[in-house]
Formats: sequence, structure tokens, C-alpha cells
Amino acid sequence: MTIMAVTAAQAQAMRRPALQAAVDTSARCAENPDNSTDEPAEYLWFRGDGEKLAAWHLRAAYLRRYCTGCPVLEQCRELALREGDGDIGRGDDMVRAGLTTQELGYLAREQEVRLARAVAADRLAAEQRRAVNQAAARVTHALKPTGPVEVARSELAAAVAARRASNGWGRAA
Ligand code: SF4
Repeated sequence: MTIMAVTAAQAQAMRRPALQAAVDTSARCAENPDNSTDEPAEYLWFRGDGEKLAAWHLRAAYLRRYCTGCPVLEQCRELALREGDGDIGRGDDMVRAGLTTQELGYLAREQEVRLARAVAADRLAAEQRRAVNQAAARVTHALKPTGPVEVARSELAAAVAARRASNGWGRAA
């Protein structure tokens, strides 16, 4: 499936399920970004235990470039920010959405108010979705063929059919 790249402003206006769906279907990192290793893809995005800083910086630079070719970079970045990824006090030990841990932390600090609103709006939307689903389930349950009205109707139809049959009107129901 081809996905159209969105701007940062468009990603910021999206609710969390839409952001997640875009990343789930089109994340470039779902492939292994470095064919020279057998390590699982997710490992490559973190600094390894004991990995020399110079080696990590080289790898991080490569990963950041890799993200620039990702069709869902903005959705991924927005998700990372809403999930609280990034920590100014921590070293650069991860790359996500083309940014290091520290860079994500700075961005989150800069956009603190907007992010708090977005997270609250996501929570509200999730509650509303749950309420709609529960109401729909109650309607479905009430309309079930095994509900009391339908059971009474089918018993009546059976009684009518039995009476017609016993009166010699054949098997008509
Ligand atoms: S922007 Fe980078 S980390 Fe995010 S989904 Fe794309 S490739 Fe993966």
C-alpha cells in the first residue's frame, strides 16, 4: 500500500490510532536497515551494551539518514513525542523518527503544552470509542435472534404451524 507523506502539522492533528496505523503499515524500519548484520531490526535502533561512543555515533548518523527516507516519519515522530520518548538528561542511546533520545527530549520540552493537549484528546477519543462500542454491543444483544421477543415469535410460529398441520393444511407455516 502506498502512503502519502504528511507534514508535521498534519501528523499533530491526527489521533493516536491513525498515527499508529500509519506506522504499523508503512514503517521503513520494519525491514532490517542494515543488511550487514543478523541482529533483529529493533536492536539496531539502540546503542548496544558496551558499544563505543564513536561507533554508536556512526551508527546513529546512519539510522537518522535512514529515517529521512521513511514515508511515515512525521507520524512516527508525533507518536514518539506523545509516548514520552526522549530524555534530555540521558545520553543519545536511541534513534527514533530520525532523532536521538536527547533531541526528542528537547522537542518534547518545547511542545509540552501542545503534547499534553494531544494526549488528553487521544484519551477522550478512546473513551468515546469505548462508549460507542459498548452501546453498539448492547443494541446487538437486544436484537439477537435468541432475545425474548424473537423466542416468543418463533414459539408462536411453531404452534401455528403445528395447528395448521394437525388441521390438515399441510406443512405450511
Ligand atoms: S521514522 Fe524511522 S523509526 Fe520511525 S517508522 Fe520510520 S524508519 Fe522507523
